[in-house]
Amino acid sequence: MDLEFDQQHVWHPYTSTINPLPCYPVESANGVYLTLEDGRKLIDGMSSWWSTIHGYNHPALNQAAKNQIDKMSHVMFGGITHEPAVELCRKLIAITPEPLQHVFLADSGSVAVEVSLKMALQYWHAKGQPRPKFLTVRHGYHGDTFAAMSVTDPDNSMHSLYKGFLPEHIFAESSERGFYEEWCESDITDFKEKLNNNKEQLAAVIIEPIVQGAGGMRIYHPMYLKRIRELCDEHDVLLIADEIATGFGRTGKMFACEHAGISPDIMCVGKALTGGYMTLSATLATKHVADTVCSGEAACFMHGPTFMGNPLACAVGNASLEILMQGNWQQQVLSIEQQLSELLPEIGQLDCVKAVRWLGAIGVVELYEPVNMAEIQKSFVDAGVWIRPFGKLIYIMPPFIITPQELSCLTVAIMRSLKPQ
Ligand code: PMP
Repeated sequence: MDLEFDQQHVWHPYTSTINPLPCYPVESANGVYLTLEDGRKLIDGMSSWWSTIHGYNHPALNQAAKNQIDKMSHVMFGGITHEPAVELCRKLIAITPEPLQHVFLADSGSVAVEVSLKMALQYWHAKGQPRPKFLTVRHGYHGDTFAAMSVTDPDNSMHSLYKGFLPEHIFAESSERGFYEEWCESDITDFKEKLNNNKEQLAAVIIEPIVQGAGGMRIYHPMYLKRIRELCDEHDVLLIADEIATGFGRTGKMFACEHAGISPDIMCVGKALTGGYMTLSATLATKHVADTVCSGEAACFMHGPTFMGNPLACAVGNASLEILMQGNWQQQVLSIEQQLSELLPEIGQLDCVKAVRWLGAIGVVELYEPVNMAEIQKSFVDAGVWIRPFGKLIYIMPPFIITPQELSCLTVAIMRSLKPQ
């Protein structure tokens, strides 16, 4: 591969064209392994950012793509429908909380978030009470597009630079209580106040259920989410759950909302929806929300991307959900969680480590100081693992099929990269 051309012309996520970090050329991927061009095999600790839950090159997903590509790889979704999309929506409705009954398909997580925010705005517009604001919490992350950036914590995120150009929304303090700690009602005080003071203005609350991902890999107490649902009901504000990272089993439940026993009015999913094969996302809404949206002046929901309901992506999504619906993931994720609970506390003893956290197939090591990205990345590759830290966070979210031996290679590599030599 022409790495020099890559360095000179190809822009990677969050990288500089002036001072690009090294990129490792991957030739193929199979199961939990990435194979580099020079033949080295790396155990993937990232699942391509939460996505490849069943591992790479999965026979059933490959077959679904092959079968579909010979039939129809794409067709517009306006005035036309097809079996892969209908079947996918049927499955999504079956596995998501029961009140969610309408599915809007899109092509990336950020767009699913845009769609959810537009749905909430249109909902209140249709009711003749336009509400322009959203309430969310600190340390959140909802994507890289404009509306998604506007509900991402401006003081603590990669989007701070855009602060002055984005619509201003309302941010409440996030929960300080970890998942396994004792709940303390004072954690919800700021949220309660912000909701109460702005309720006539608020179209919706948007939140990542239980795990705040790119904004800090924080795993918070289910009661925080439960209280948010109660407060939204009390004050008649919609609740949007962004399950793009947490959905499809990652936290040990099919959807993270289940940890709090709640159901949102609108839910965004993406990433693992196709087992990480294709770019596909969905926004689900209750019948009440969907019908209200469509009862307004516009008489329909005003959104329709070109690649909406892409049949190839839907076919692979169906195969991926089929695997999940067979149910083995529960045992796989549970044993990953069990092993992380045994291995991470040892890393937590190191002087440079501020905290360790885990839930389901997610493990997090938070440091006092940011890592040197190029150095630590090289040390991981030399150790035969693929882990991509950011800032002060080293985290893993491996494919569910990882074996205990492979998982301990990941934690051993983290331990060695942090231990003074
Ligand atoms: N919401 C959450 C919670 C996410 O983690 C992400 C992706 N990191 C997004 C939205 C945006 O998804 P995408 O990158 O597919 O646009």
